[in-house]
Amino acid sequence: MAKTTALASDAVVVGGGPAGCAVALGLAQAGARVVLCERTRALAQKPGEIVEPTIRMPLAELGLADAFEGLGSLMLAGSLTAWDDGPPVEFCGMLSAFGHGVLIDRCRFEAWLAAAAMDAGVHVMRVDRWLASTTRQGGWEVACESGGQSTIVTAPVVIEATGRGTGVLGHGRKDMQDRLVAFLTYGMMDCEWRDQRLLIEACEHGWWYAAPLPGRRGVLAFMTDVDLAPQSIAKRQEHADSQLATTTIIREFAAGMCSRSRLRGFPAGSGIRQVIHGTNWVSIGDAAASYDPLSGRGVAVALAKGAAVARVISRSSSLPKALRTYADAERGTFSDYLTEQRRTYRRPAPRFASTFWERRAA
Ligand SMILES: Cc1cc2nc3c(=O)[nH]c(=O)nc-3n(C[C@H](O)[C@H](O)[C@H](O)COP(=O)(O)OP(=O)(O)OC[C@H]3O[C@@H](n4cnc5c(N)ncnc54)[C@H](O)[C@@H]3O)c2cc1C
Repeated sequence: MAKTTALASDAVVVGGGPAGCAVALGLAQAGARVVLCERTRALAQKPGEIVEPTIRMPLAELGLADAFEGLGSLMLAGSLTAWDDGPPVEFCGMLSAFGHGVLIDRCRFEAWLAAAAMDAGVHVMRVDRWLASTTRQGGWEVACESGGQSTIVTAPVVIEATGRGTGVLGHGRKDMQDRLVAFLTYGMMDCEWRDQRLLIEACEHGWWYAAPLPGRRGVLAFMTDVDLAPQSIAKRQEHADSQLATTTIIREFAAGMCSRSRLRGFPAGSGIRQVIHGTNWVSIGDAAASYDPLSGRGVAVALAKGAAVARVISRSSSLPKALRTYADAERGTFSDYLTEQRRTYRRPAPRFASTFWERRAA
């Protein structure tokens, strides 16, 4: 029979994305014993490469700002948005008070974050299978399987940073506001391609974004509602191609891209968990509230929230109070975001007679 290892810690973090790595790193830097559990089979390709300049604030707080500049990312020169009736609107990245945004290699970025957490003393575990999560004497016993071996980790608090997927504590229900889905394709950019801006353009059945990435790669994404997208892969590709043909700035970008990968769908709707925290657990990042990629803030915000949760937990004399403070702030931010999101989507709605925009016109 396989051996079971027992591991005592001050905090278990489930999920090794930006939110999970930031909270684990922040807690470890404050002297806590932290176990960070990431799935063995994490996604090989994860969207989220266009990073806004405010990322430098949580990076500085976590002592990672200088090392981040050495990651070989591209400078984000600004954006060009063809959204409503007027001509495309240009934003120059130089005008940001935080400096330029960046175009990252997401896999490299995440591996770097996990390595930084390990350097700070975080015990990183690759989990094949979750066995059970039970509360005992006010704390947690989390059992998982890794490389054929069972481990039971005990901790007074569990932080769920599992992204948009369901978590492991059983509090997963989210109130979703829409059913947005993103179909992404990656490819190589033509050597002649020099434009390092994020491009955004509305079309009849949704909208597109595109950007060049490090290593001469590029990403092209079509956003629509999941029930409006054809079911079959071939028909879906046809639908996306026909929408692409109606665009102007995105079509030009796509023409500069070769050897494109097959379209791959990712949920992209906005929603917030019905319950974000308990007295000894909290969900953070996309696990707590997920935002429309149009907001362009996911990675920077996940990192900032991870750092903030580490700060409130390590500085507060009462764990339940610290978790409640964070959860109240999360709900407030989400409510403000919804107002802004609705306002933004109402602008192009009159241009198109389609279900996608009718849903957003009201
Ligand atoms: C189509 C699309 C495009 C986007 N583009 C951008 C962009 O350009 N810029 C931007 O800033 N943001 C973007 N975002 C948002 C951004 O990617 C997320 O907000 C950000 O990744 C959230 O970080 P997180 O750490 O909360 O979750 P994630 O990054 O999703 O990380 C969660 C981690 O938890 C792990 N996990 C899940 N379940 C378990 C489990 N049971 N056990 C162990 N581990 C588990 C996963 O493997 C994953 O590594 C985009 C989102 C979408 C959908």
